[in-house]
Amino acid sequence: LVSRKKKQEDTVVTVRGHKVGDGNVTFVFGPCAVESYEQVAEVAKSIKGKGLKMIRGGAYKPRTSPYDFQGLGLEGLKILKRVADEFDLAVVSEIVNPADIETACEYIDVIQIGARNMQNFELLKAAGSVKKPVLLKRGLAATIDEFINAAEYILAQGNDQVILCERGIRTYERATRNTLDITAVPILKQETHLPVFVDVTHSTGRRDLLLPAAKAGIAIGADGIMAEVHPDPAVALSDAAQQMNLQQFDEFYDEILKSVPVK
Ligand code: PEP
Ligand code: MN
Repeated sequence: LVSRKKKQEDTVVTVRGHKVGDGNVTFVFGPCAVESYEQVAEVAKSIKGKGLKMIRGGAYKPRTSPYDFQGLGLEGLKILKRVADEFDLAVVSEIVNPADIETACEYIDVIQIGARNMQNFELLKAAGSVKKPVLLKRGLAATIDEFINAAEYILAQGNDQVILCERGIRTYERATRNTLDITAVPILKQETHLPVFVDVTHSTGRRDLLLPAAKAGIAIGADGIMAEVHPDPAVALSDAAQQMNLQQFDEFYDEILKSVPVK
């Protein structure tokens, strides 16, 4: 169902009235994790000021260590909803448990399935059974073929509102947190009809590489760019090393606008 051979025209995913994959580049910025209403609202204000439509933030955080901040859970989703309503922004947030999919639909606009859960087949089926756009991230060590099959699980349940997101894969290279597989973008666009995003934060793990990686993503045909922004990254409860502060975000966005094709 995801194959370009089955459907030639691009799938446009509609998120709170905003069209993703219609030829314009969509931007999804926001903190790694929801920490408080004030923290999310501050980032939302900056996003809104740029005329952007979407915000991200994790309420359920899949952390490597069980002793690290695990996210605010349902409380985090409630904060996101409050911010979304106040600023009229669409919210992207990760869900890790199939049992939370139904509830999540009341609070968020896009269900994110994270890299660590790309092959959590029960989660994929649950996300496929609801009428909510899904942003599916590539697994840490998944081939493109496995990634496409994971998307197929969602479509097979009847939900075709799926966005694919390249977020880097694990290789022997340690200079970056993961290796951004930039050619995955045109391959996924050739093989499937779904919109393809590039997450520059989790792929590079380096603040100094966010801008060049985002420019590369746009140049190679990505439908959207995701990056993390925090009012004070130094005290962030996760991903402190690579989130942009609000001033860096302004500079990043000014620069990136020069790379966006003018429609
Ligand atoms: C995230 O986007 O919050 C995240 C945890 O990313 P990934 O699943 O790509 O590691
Ligand atoms: Mn993060």
